[in-house]
Amino acid sequence: MALSHSLGFPRIGADRELKKALEAHWKGELDDAGLRAVGRQLRAAHWQLQKDAGIELLPVGDFAWYDQVLSHSLAFGVIPERFRPQSGKPSLDTLFAMARGVSHSSCCGAAHAQELTKWFDTNYHYLVPEFSVDQQFQLSWEQLFEEVEEAHSLGHKVKPVLIGPLTYLWLGKTKGGEFERLDLLERLLPVYGEILQRLAAQGVEWVQIDEPILALDLPQAWKNAFERGYNILQREPGKKLIATYFGGLEDNLGLAANLPVDGLHIDLVRAPEQFPSILDRLPTYKVLSLGVVNGRNVWRTDLDKALAILQQAQERLGERLWVAPSCSLLHSPVDLNLEDQLDSELKSWLAFAVQKCEEVAALTTTLNDPQNAKAQAALAASRAVQASRAQSPRIHKPAVQARLAAISAADSRRQSPFVQRIERQRARLQLPALPTTTIGSFPQTPAIRQARQAFKQGKLSPAEYREAMHGEIRHAVEVQENLGLDVLVHGEAERNDMVEYFAEQLDGYAFSRFGWVQSYGSRCVKPALIYGDLSRPQPMTVEWIRYAQTLTGKVMKGMLTGPVTMLLWSFPREDLSREQQARQLALAIRDEVQDLEAAGIKIVQIDEAAFREGLPLRQAGWQDYLDWAAEAFRLAACGVRDDTQIHTHMCYSEFNDVIEAIAAMDADVITIETSRSDMQLLEAFEAFNYPNDIGPGVYDIHSPRVPDSAEMVKLLRKAAQRIPAARLWVNPDCGLKTRAWAETEAALVNMVAAARQLRGELA
Ligand code: GLN
Ligand code: ZN
Repeated sequence: MALSHSLGFPRIGADRELKKALEAHWKGELDDAGLRAVGRQLRAAHWQLQKDAGIELLPVGDFAWYDQVLSHSLAFGVIPERFRPQSGKPSLDTLFAMARGVSHSSCCGAAHAQELTKWFDTNYHYLVPEFSVDQQFQLSWEQLFEEVEEAHSLGHKVKPVLIGPLTYLWLGKTKGGEFERLDLLERLLPVYGEILQRLAAQGVEWVQIDEPILALDLPQAWKNAFERGYNILQREPGKKLIATYFGGLEDNLGLAANLPVDGLHIDLVRAPEQFPSILDRLPTYKVLSLGVVNGRNVWRTDLDKALAILQQAQERLGERLWVAPSCSLLHSPVDLNLEDQLDSELKSWLAFAVQKCEEVAALTTTLNDPQNAKAQAALAASRAVQASRAQSPRIHKPAVQARLAAISAADSRRQSPFVQRIERQRARLQLPALPTTTIGSFPQTPAIRQARQAFKQGKLSPAEYREAMHGEIRHAVEVQENLGLDVLVHGEAERNDMVEYFAEQLDGYAFSRFGWVQSYGSRCVKPALIYGDLSRPQPMTVEWIRYAQTLTGKVMKGMLTGPVTMLLWSFPREDLSREQQARQLALAIRDEVQDLEAAGIKIVQIDEAAFREGLPLRQAGWQDYLDWAAEAFRLAACGVRDDTQIHTHMCYSEFNDVIEAIAAMDADVITIETSRSDMQLLEAFEAFNYPNDIGPGVYDIHSPRVPDSAEMVKLLRKAAQRIPAARLWVNPDCGLKTRAWAETEAALVNMVAAARQLRGELA
């Protein structure tokens, strides 16, 4: 009999119950016991949901108070010195201190949180383990065993989930001295042994060991360590399923297939080409789990297609076939049944975590009992959905497709090269040397949020709302004029979010009410859904920007979000490539850019905050991505005259990998984050001889601290050593929406002073 299982379930709760409980706990409104009770209820509810959906083997250990990697660090006693409790085992307080930092504490003073970084290519973020040279590992956190107990007492058959030793070491960072973290493996393994023994003693049959790094380009030493490590672990009790996801095993296929464990899970959604070759490579004693339901998107699976693969596998594997989502369902929203505002057709195309479990179950049931009526009905429903999607005029728009087909190479090229354009732009803009500007947003005050809320609830009329926003724009313009900034912005008061604001105005996007996905800790995002061909029915920003420009004689910069960022921060379609979707978005944004230009706007900024995030996990895929991503940006940007200046903005600091593509975007000006790295990242721009203008951020907007102008002068001098001063702009690191007005104005006064001082020196 084939078996259905799940690799992990969202922990946050369908109505974000965990988020709410965590935040109440941090405010002191919910004690430890209360928080633990919420956790217990959520786990019980989630197991039941999965079981009711038809999942046979349920995950345990996928629940985490903040992050599963952090839980793992606690379990293994990887607790940096600054958080270590003076006596006894770590507590929930220890865990939250590691996640969030502490500003004061009785034992050790202030301690900064552990670093947060992206979990592979998802929008989930984990807390980076910190390993010291003398790192010792010991079992320090009992949660996994308690949860197994909890599940058993509820009568569930469970499969605990562990992060594998190699992936865990890979995800960490060494602190305090140069050493190879792989050398810690031998010390780490005994704790895995202890855990496996304890689980076996609890009556656990299978353990899932996640090793997603098997889908990455691995150095040889790490490949060797896989063999070494699992040869040691094979002595420990319990059946072990190695889970891989987010990509194909490729050159690691043989390694993964032959590890001395009892089963292997592979992701056939991200890497369908692994099938059927995997069947020939897998030793005949092993279970093969096939991830055929996408764990990180919101669309229903084509069950017929999945079934065809599974049946082929079943012929070879028989009892040894397991069926699962491609990866943990952590990355998808919880339950579609709560969505009461989506129209029924669109809703029929979607599947959230609960529905994905039902799909896995329907497939498994069909394998085991082809005549099963319920499974037959699920397959028929899936067929109907595929048919309705294939023909739906909401998805396929001839006008969009015709436009795409008509794109020529000239559309993604400016009329003249940068050296010529910049002269025309300078002549038209008449800016001083080292022009000052900001990244777009000004503080999103409670008053702004209230006005937006009231407007959405119908308590403010459109005219009243417009007037409220005009008031905010007037204020922002007045402040900027008083500060003496050179290029002004309208302040983005009307925008809730840099993607959602545009997505709401494009055809082809839809929005869920409860489609939350955990980003980190208590933070969740609710990505918009791209369901069909995208187009812009009417201008999205022109009225706001035009109004702002009427208020000032200075240059007003228009502000848009770029196609790549729009795509990467949405749930994309699965029936069209990312590249094609980016091109559709690019055309919509291109129209907006041209409308802004026609409205007399001389500078348009197109933000690409997520550009670097789109890099595929394996280097072999990088160039292709960078090519189409840069091209999509140019398609959005290049419909303007030479003397219209295009800016872009990226808020991170690692450019070495992508500098060529950044140059290929051919923006006239790029503003980037540099202040925290002390201008070091400009090295990439210098070494590459980046040809266009650059605004390296001169102060960190992530903190309320107000830097003085001497500090910024120093940074600018450093920048001027690497980039000719004639090509430098002066601006903060990122948008100011999370700051308050007082610190914003104070910092910008100093920034303008710094620019003026340097201008004087240069002249
Ligand atoms: N223009 C946006 C802002 O200022 C850019 C935000 C971002 O890069 N994340 O808020
Ligand atoms: Zn930014």
